[in-house]
Amino acid sequence: ASAVDVPKLVLNNDREIPAIALGTFLGFGKEGVVKSVDKELRDVVMKAIDLGYRHFDTASVYGTEKEIGEAVQMKISDGAITRDDVFITTKLWNTHHKREQVMQALKESLENLGTNYVDLYLMHWPMGLNDDYSHSDVDYMETWRGMEDAVKLGLAKSIGLSNFNKEQVERVIKEGDIKPAVLQIEVHLQIVQAELVSYAQSQGVIVMGYSPFGSLVTRFGETKPGPKIDDPTLMKIAQKYGKTTPQVVLRWLVDRKIIPIPKTVNPKRLKENIELFDFHLDDDEIELINGFDQHVRYTLPSFWQNHTYYPFEKVDNPIADPFVNKM
Ligand code: NDP
Repeated sequence: ASAVDVPKLVLNNDREIPAIALGTFLGFGKEGVVKSVDKELRDVVMKAIDLGYRHFDTASVYGTEKEIGEAVQMKISDGAITRDDVFITTKLWNTHHKREQVMQALKESLENLGTNYVDLYLMHWPMGLNDDYSHSDVDYMETWRGMEDAVKLGLAKSIGLSNFNKEQVERVIKEGDIKPAVLQIEVHLQIVQAELVSYAQSQGVIVMGYSPFGSLVTRFGETKPGPKIDDPTLMKIAQKYGKTTPQVVLRWLVDRKIIPIPKTVNPKRLKENIELFDFHLDDDEIELINGFDQHVRYTLPSFWQNHTYYPFEKVDNPIADPFVNKM
């Protein structure tokens, strides 16, 4: 079987970015962030490269940088790809928001990834935290200066933001020297993000959409209300194109010029999730799918909601902090 030839989008610094990224966050368990066992993730990433994936999304907090790096390295040694053929996105964790800490954190990520640059470095959240996870009041503009330093030193080809709201993105655009290339946010059937996506795109900022399957799938053992894999509206569209409903949902992001970040460790689904570039939805179908919107977030770290730079709406009963004592 031949590999899928994934199209690319052009960033505001003229660099190219593949139109789909493989997600590599393995979830939270009793012990904190779930780790890959027996190099499972490394093998998934090697398989993904065979199938045509060229963009990998990780973060220092996911603990998956090493295995991604190993997989890429092995595929380079094989002669299957060169470093230039793959696009690696990683993220700065909240405990390293002081300007000089950014470089230190990035160097650690580069060491894990076994590479001397990342294609994209994202600020994971606007909120800074101290080592003990108490709130730090370091301004994300200071952090952004550190991210800009990384570009100037060639350690990150592009920089961007994750989980920033519209006002926060606006401020970085206004006060920063380098315009963010990317904004990574939650996008799925339950949170269409019409306003933030159109704002970002109007500014030339490419949007990456995380948790793209939304309510369709059981994620980390949790099922959410909303359309499921056999939803009749989605099934009808899927049948028309000879695709599955997860493929329709991913294509809905692609057609909105959003880079989906589906995560899977299953070889069959890995193949399914990249077979998106031989069909497209029409405008009415995109509108119909937009209509599922419930403005519901799955990633809502309400335990941080009293932080000055918390980006989301506050809730009455914040959940317990899963990071404290587990990192
Ligand atoms: P996804 O929407 O990717 O859902 C993942 C789940 O869907 C897994 O349970 C997976 O199971 C299942 N799945 C994958 N493909 C299919 C398919 N074709 N049919 C049925 N089920 C399928 O959500 P995630 O929350 O995992 O997000 C994806 C990525 O986005 C993360 O890995 C991470 O890289 C990024 N992210 C970024 C965040 C941020 O703060 N910036 C926050 C959250 C995520 P299985 O593996 O068994 O196939």
